[in-house]
Amino acid sequence: MTDHRTPLDSVLDTVGETPLVRVQAAPDEVPVYAKLESFNPGASIKDRIGEYMVEQMLERGELEPGGTVIEPTAGNTGIGFAIAAGQLGVDAVFVVPERFSVEKQQLMDALGAEVINTPTEDGMGGAIDRAHELAEEMDGAVVPQQFSNPLNVEAHYETTGPEIFEALDGEVGAVVAGTGTAGTLMGIAEYALEQDPDTHVVAVEPEGSLYSRTKGEDVEEAEYKIEGIGTHDPATNELFDPDLVDEVLQVPDRRAHEELKRLAREEGQLVASSAGAASAAARHVAERIRDGEIDAPHDSVATVFPDSSERYLSKGIYRSFEEWEG
Ligand code: PMP
Repeated sequence: MTDHRTPLDSVLDTVGETPLVRVQAAPDEVPVYAKLESFNPGASIKDRIGEYMVEQMLERGELEPGGTVIEPTAGNTGIGFAIAAGQLGVDAVFVVPERFSVEKQQLMDALGAEVINTPTEDGMGGAIDRAHELAEEMDGAVVPQQFSNPLNVEAHYETTGPEIFEALDGEVGAVVAGTGTAGTLMGIAEYALEQDPDTHVVAVEPEGSLYSRTKGEDVEEAEYKIEGIGTHDPATNELFDPDLVDEVLQVPDRRAHEELKRLAREEGQLVASSAGAASAAARHVAERIRDGEIDAPHDSVATVFPDSSERYLSKGIYRSFEEWEG
């Protein structure tokens, strides 16, 4: 557990125990609280899985000290793994499709990791294939694979979930979180449902993403600008369990963008698009609890703001909706 009042040995000791802050625009009767994950040392929620997965893989002997983690990733996960690997005596290699944010690749490089680019047209699938090829060629290399590794869920079951419940004295009516790999939501949901099986669990995805289809919704596939959440092929996601989820809410790009700009202007919160989507969805859930449309065990909603807008300034996150490159 992090205690910020005493000197710490390593930056890894500052992962987790992030602040939980009220979203002021939500109804007073059903407050919404957001976990501010940009307070982690690599400025995103992915520092949690970086630390947890590398530590666990070392402990279980799946990874040897001096070995290498090779992960296909577009961003935050690479930074989280790079910090953990560097501090735990492991090398890190990230396979990143060319089109992804230059800032994030510069940070991975600064943290001592090797960044290998794959052609944009080969997509994330190309990066995943290349990561596995590299792992076969290299002694002591493993691919943690955040999209299929249960340790991703476990990291949030062990840390994010309990932190939320502790801060709210166990009175959590609903949990609402953006779903990319689904590690965050599944870990929090598993913990929440153990505390109270009636907790209302909501997955958030961009409009155009297809997690909704797992709940029988006939949604259309489309491109979206919101970064870090959503899927075009829920069947390939081994971590997302629709049985733990009461509903999947879709948030249009425009709504997420409007909300992230409002959060900055009105609430002093510098958060990115997946947090804008989570906030809009969490407020909607709170209003429905207040209006008696959702039967939740407590009058409160917990959500997660995964990272900061600073990482997306070059993509025009605070410009007009049309100018925002997503
Ligand atoms: N928001 C951002 C900015 C992210 O990078 C991610 C990770 N893909 C998420 C949300 C979603 O988290 P998870 O992968 O745990 O579902």
